[in-house]
Amino acid sequence: MSKNLTTRSEDYSKWYNELVVKADLAENSGVRGCMVIKPYGYAIWEKMQAELDRMFKETGHQNAYFPLFVPKSMFEAEEKNAEGFAKECAIVTHYRLKNDPDKPGKLMVDPNAKLEEELIVRPTSEAIIWSTYKGWVQSYRDLPLLINQWANVVRWEMRTRLFLRTAEFLWQEGHTAHATKAEAVEESEKMMNVYADFAQNFMAIPVVKGIKTETERFAGAEETYCIEALMQDGKALQAGTSHFLGQNFAKAFDVKFANAEGKQEYVWGTSWGVSTRLMGALVMTHSDDQGLVLPPNLAPIQVVIVPIYKNDEQLDAIRAEVNALTVALRKLNISVKFDDRTTQKPGFKFAEWELKGVPVRIAVGPKDLENGTFEVARRDTLSKEVVSKEGIEIYINDLLTKIQEDLFNKALDYKNSHITEVNNFEEFKEVLDTKGGFISAHWDGTAATEEKIKDLTKATIRCIPLDRVLESGSCVFTGETSVGRVLFAKAY
Ligand code: AMP
Repeated sequence: MSKNLTTRSEDYSKWYNELVVKADLAENSGVRGCMVIKPYGYAIWEKMQAELDRMFKETGHQNAYFPLFVPKSMFEAEEKNAEGFAKECAIVTHYRLKNDPDKPGKLMVDPNAKLEEELIVRPTSEAIIWSTYKGWVQSYRDLPLLINQWANVVRWEMRTRLFLRTAEFLWQEGHTAHATKAEAVEESEKMMNVYADFAQNFMAIPVVKGIKTETERFAGAEETYCIEALMQDGKALQAGTSHFLGQNFAKAFDVKFANAEGKQEYVWGTSWGVSTRLMGALVMTHSDDQGLVLPPNLAPIQVVIVPIYKNDEQLDAIRAEVNALTVALRKLNISVKFDDRTTQKPGFKFAEWELKGVPVRIAVGPKDLENGTFEVARRDTLSKEVVSKEGIEIYINDLLTKIQEDLFNKALDYKNSHITEVNNFEEFKEVLDTKGGFISAHWDGTAATEEKIKDLTKATIRCIPLDRVLESGSCVFTGETSVGRVLFAKAY
C-alpha cells in the first residue's frame, strides 16, 4: 500500500490534513466547516468518551441532556456570554419550506412560517441550562448540582480544520451550581485537574495547567482554567477549559437558594469542556511520517497479527497458532485483530496498520511455526524483535504498558525542551521564529501589551502557569514591572 504522506518537515499542516483523511479518522463533508467522523476515528473518540465519562462519574457528576436550540431572549440574558458568542452563531428564523412557484422542483423558505422568536443553535449551553436550574434550586439542600452533558455544539468558525476547529463539534460540557464561592472555585480547579490527568495518563499528552488572561477568558466567566499542550511543530493547542462563572449566570437567570439561615443568595457556577479537538491533539502529538501513532489506551486495535504464507496449508497452520494467541490476549483485555485477508499482500497490510497507528504488529510465518516464535514490531519505534511464543501474551501486555509510558515521556521531553525563557523582545521574536514552543517571559499584565505582541508576532499568552514562581521582573515588551512569567506561543 502506498501511503504517499507529505512529511512533517515538508509541510506540517498538509501532513496533518492528509493523515487524518488517509488514516480514515475523518473527512470534510458537503456542509461548510463540518466534518464526517469515520468509524475508525469515532472508535477512538468513543474510548476518550468512555474514560472521561468514568472520571466525571467518579467525581460525583451525572449526565443529562438539554435542547439544541436556545431562544434569543434566553441567549441574551447573560450579556457578556451573549456578546462573546454573538459573532459565531447559527440562527433559526423559519420552520417550513414550500415549493417555489418560479422554480419547479425547488424549495423556498415559507415567509408565512417565520418564528416569532429566533432560535440560536447552542454554541455552548450555559443559557439553556441556567434557565432550567432556576426551577431546580430552592434551598441549600438542592446544592450542589453536578451535571454533565454529551452533545454537539455549533460555532460559526471562519477558518476550519478537521477536528481542531470545526463549525459543529462534539464535546462534553459540565455545568455545576454551588452554595459557596469556595466550592465553585474548587470544582473548576478539580475539573481542570481531571482533564490534565486524562490528557497525560490516558492520551500520553503532557500539558501545562494554567489560567487564561482576561483577553482569552471564556465570555461570562470570572476565571478560566486551562490545559495547554504543545504540538510537534511548536504550536500550542488549548486542549481543555474549566470556568469559574462566579454568580454571573445565577444573576442573569435569577437562580437563588435559601441558605441554612433562610436567607436568599445567588448560586455560584462553573462550566468545563473538552471537544473532538482532542483527536487533533492526539494526532499532532504522537504521529510521524509513516502515519498515526496511537497510545495503546486509545487504540481501537492494540495488536494486529499478519500471517506470512505461500499456500492454504501454511495459512491453516498459522491460523491454529494465532487462534490460541488471540484467546490469550483477549483474556488480558487486549484488543487484537487477525488480518487474514487473502486479497492483500503482507507488505500492504504492514503499511496500512502502520498508517493507522496500531501499537503492536505481530507477524507469523512458517519459520516462526518451526521455531515456536512470533515477530513483534512496535509502531512507535518501528523496531522489531523475535519473541518465543511461551508467555508471549504477558510480553505483549507489558510492551503495551511500556509503549504508553514511552510515548508520554517522549512528548514530555519535547514539551520541556520547548519552554524557553527569554528576557527581551529580540530574543522573543528569534525563539518564536526558529524554535517555536512556549516562550516564558515577563508581561506587564495589560491587555494592550498582549494585543501588541499578538499583532507583531501572532503569539498569544497561552496561560499563566499555575506553578509559576512569583518573581519581580520587567515586561519583555514594555519594560514595565511584572510579577512573574507567563507562557506565550503561536496557537491552533
Ligand atoms: P470553551 O467553551 O470555549 O471553553 O471551549 C471548550 C472546549 O472546546 C475547549 O477545549 C476548546 O478548545 C474546544 N473548542 C472550542 N472551539 C472549538 C471548535 N471550533 N472546534 C473544536 N473544539 C473547539
